[in-house]
Amino acid sequence: IDSLRALGVEKDLALPAIAVIGDQSSGKSSVLEALSGVALPRGSGIVTRCPLALRLKKMTRAQGWKGNISYLDVNLKLQDPSEVEKEIRKGECSIFHSEKGIKRLIKKIIAKEETINLVVVPSNVDIATTEALKMAQEVDPEGERTLGILTKPDLVDKGTEESVVDIVRNLIIHLKKGYMIVKCRGQQDIQKNLSLASAIQNERAFFEENEHFRILLDEKRATVPLLAEKLTSELVEHINKSLPTLEEQINTQLQKATQELCKYGKSIPETQTEKLFFLIDKIRLFNQDLMYSTHGEEKLHDDEQVKLFTKIRQEFQKWGEILDKNSVKGKYRAANLRIVPLYYQWK
Ligand code: GDP
Ligand code: MG
Repeated sequence: IDSLRALGVEKDLALPAIAVIGDQSSGKSSVLEALSGVALPRGSGIVTRCPLALRLKKMTRAQGWKGNISYLDVNLKLQDPSEVEKEIRKGECSIFHSEKGIKRLIKKIIAKEETINLVVVPSNVDIATTEALKMAQEVDPEGERTLGILTKPDLVDKGTEESVVDIVRNLIIHLKKGYMIVKCRGQQDIQKNLSLASAIQNERAFFEENEHFRILLDEKRATVPLLAEKLTSELVEHINKSLPTLEEQINTQLQKATQELCKYGKSIPETQTEKLFFLIDKIRLFNQDLMYSTHGEEKLHDDEQVKLFTKIRQEFQKWGEILDKNSVKGKYRAANLRIVPLYYQWK
C-alpha cells in the first residue's frame, strides 16, 4: 500500500487508511503522538486547527530518522523528531480552514469504505453525546469499520468507573471492532517534560494499579502498545479485504488508459532509425489519406459533420447545371460525355 501511495495511486483510488476523529481536546493528538513516538502540538482549546495526515514508514536502524512535512507550496525535510511539533504549528498557522470546510473534508474521508475510523472519546464524557461518534455512525451505521478509543481514564469521576468498563467491553454502544482504553500524557506530564517512553511505562503502571481498570489490561483492551498491535492487525486485515477490489479497479482503469493511449498511435521515436521509420510512416499515412480523398473516400472522426462524398456530389450537381446552361448544343458535348459517366460512377 505504501508503494502504491508513493506512486500517487491515491489520486485515482482510495487506499486503506486509518482516520482519527474526536471532539475538541478529546486526546486525538495525544493518541497519535503516543502511537508514532513523535511529539505533536496538543493542549487545551483548539490546538490542531486543521486535519493532519501522518504517514509512518519503518526505517532500518542504519537509515535513522527522516521526516518530511508538506503543506501549500512548502516542502521541508526534517532531521529530528523534535522539529515536528514546531513545524506543524507553523503550518497550521498559515492554513486557514473554515469549520464547515473541515467537517466536509472529515466526512469525505471517513465515508470511504477503505478507511478505518478511530473515534476518540474522553472517559469522563458521556460517549453517547459526542459529535465524533455521531459522525462515524452516520457513515458506518453497523460499526463495521469503527473502533472506539477512550482516553483520560485517570480523570474519570470516582464511582463511574464501572460504566467506563462496560463501554470498553462493548456492552453499551456496540461496535464490531470494539473499544480500547489508553492513558496519554496529561498537561502536567508535558510541563514536567515527561518523555513519551516514560509515559508508556506510567500508563502500564496506572492500569496495573487501578482496581477497576486492571481487568481491561488482562483482556487486552488497554494501553497504547496494545492499541498499536490491534491497529496493525486491523489494518492488515482491512488491506487484505480491500486488495481484490483495488486490483479490479486498477485493471479497469488500466484498460481505459490503454484504450485512450492507443488512440494516439505509437510512442515518440528515440533512435535515428526509429525516427526515420516514424517519418516514413507518417508520410505514407498522409499519402494514403490524400489517395482516399481523391477517390472521394475518407476516414471520418466522429465529430466531423460534412462528408466529402456528399459535398462533392453537390458540387458536381451545380457544375452539371452550369454546363447544361452554358453549353451551346454540341460545343461542350464532348466534355459532357466524358464527365457525366464519371459523375454517375461517383454518385
Ligand atoms: P485533541 O484536541 O483531540 O488533539 O486533544 P489533545 O491531544 O491536544 O489533548 C487535550 C488535552 O488532554 C491535553 O492537555 C492532553 O495533555 C490531555 N490529555 C490527553 N490524554 C490524556 C490522558 O489520558 N490523561 C490526562 N490526564 N490528560 C490527557
Ligand atoms: Mg489535536
